[in-house]
Amino acid sequence: MVRAFRVYDTLSREVRAFVPRESPRVGLFVCGLTPYAEAHIGHGRTAITFDVVARALRRWGYHVFYVQNVTNLDDRLIARGQAEGRDPLELAEFHFQGWLRGMDQLDARAVNLYPFATDYMPEIIAQVSTLIDRGFAYAVEGDVYYEVAKFPDYGQLSGQRLEALRPGARVEMDPKKRAPEDFALWKAAKPGEPAWASPWGPGRPGWHIEDTAITGRLLGDQYDIHGGGEDLKFPHHEAEIAQAEGASGKKPLVNYWMHGGMLQMHGEKMAKSVGNVSGLEGALRRYGPEVLRFYYLNANYRSPLNYEEGKSLEEAREGYATLAQPYRRLREELLRGGLTRPGRELPPEIAKTATELPLRLDEILAEDFQTREAIAALYGWGRMLNEWSAKLEGLSGAALVTLGTPYRWAAEVLGLFPERTSAKAPVEFSALVQVAIEARGRARNRGDFGEADRIRQSLLQAGIVLEDQGTETRWQWKRDGVA
Ligand SMILES: [Zn+2]
Repeated sequence: MVRAFRVYDTLSREVRAFVPRESPRVGLFVCGLTPYAEAHIGHGRTAITFDVVARALRRWGYHVFYVQNVTNLDDRLIARGQAEGRDPLELAEFHFQGWLRGMDQLDARAVNLYPFATDYMPEIIAQVSTLIDRGFAYAVEGDVYYEVAKFPDYGQLSGQRLEALRPGARVEMDPKKRAPEDFALWKAAKPGEPAWASPWGPGRPGWHIEDTAITGRLLGDQYDIHGGGEDLKFPHHEAEIAQAEGASGKKPLVNYWMHGGMLQMHGEKMAKSVGNVSGLEGALRRYGPEVLRFYYLNANYRSPLNYEEGKSLEEAREGYATLAQPYRRLREELLRGGLTRPGRELPPEIAKTATELPLRLDEILAEDFQTREAIAALYGWGRMLNEWSAKLEGLSGAALVTLGTPYRWAAEVLGLFPERTSAKAPVEFSALVQVAIEARGRARNRGDFGEADRIRQSLLQAGIVLEDQGTETRWQWKRDGVA
């Protein structure tokens, strides 16, 4: 049995009950990166939004097949490649590897497949040909355009009227197009650009067609959920609908359109092309993955999220520290004796609340993925534990594990409070451990081995194991069952 949930659908403009096309399978496609430069923290927001959607659906019993494409060739990649004297495809691969490292650090591993656009040339050429055959597209001098006037539903997703899309008389129209709103499906090769053979001559695909060729191949003519940033609604997603439905003759392309709000820097959308960019890797180095995930998730995914350099992530760090403090306390207690440690059992009403809270958290997420509300409920649980903290000491290991249940829900679905923390301890925590290691080193240098050993034992009690390698001391989490 899968869990029912509701989701805001951009096309119908309402929160609707989710009905999979073929339960329990769910096809999920999210527009991915054009990796022409280092990813910024705005990209991270979309990735974490849909990472949580996929995690929640899997928890609820759905078999999610999650595809996120990579536009590894477009005008910006070609321009960047020429400016840097690099092959644009190699440049895309380089920045994509950086993206994957960031995703690994963020523990955003829900994506099943990252298809590269240039690996789908046969599918792209086939779809363009079909669109020409069915009368939706026309070829001119090596280019192919989609004739928007042939698709009456164009503009429904974003609520744009065709007349409004027409540039004013001042804008000169490309003479090859029949109408200004027509968009390129295939572009004739210019000298020095990567090119593929096609029935219309050597060239490369337009941006929009990559996605529908990929989804047609991997998810079918129709699938469940299409996601992406809000800025992609128009023209990108309108174009996708026109292409896919035009080519297959089936409506609708997808049953649910999910759009994530933008990250805004002082009210302006964060985008590489605007220049107000803060790098994802730098933010991860400075704040660690949990703070970043907390920052993204402590907001409604559909709302704009303001980003202020030096302020927003500092606040998130404090907010997450408060949220994590009772959890750390539980962990520390549990490390003293583990699951089998003897002690008092929980009062029944507390045990009941602890056990039922994850179900309540599922309910919250099942109403259009209200991660902020889920975090608020976790804060409430933390306050209860804080009031209780004096009593934690006498509790049995089993009781402590029960109290940790809501945090294990958060680890599974929100990716907070990760259990395997060895490589991913928050920066400030690592710094504290380093202070202790240095104090121990100084004690040893002056021959105070008793003190050095006391420091080692205290760290061990907190679950930290020291390892001396020559003059260097490293640390790692003790690898036994922890909260
Ligand atoms: Zn896309």
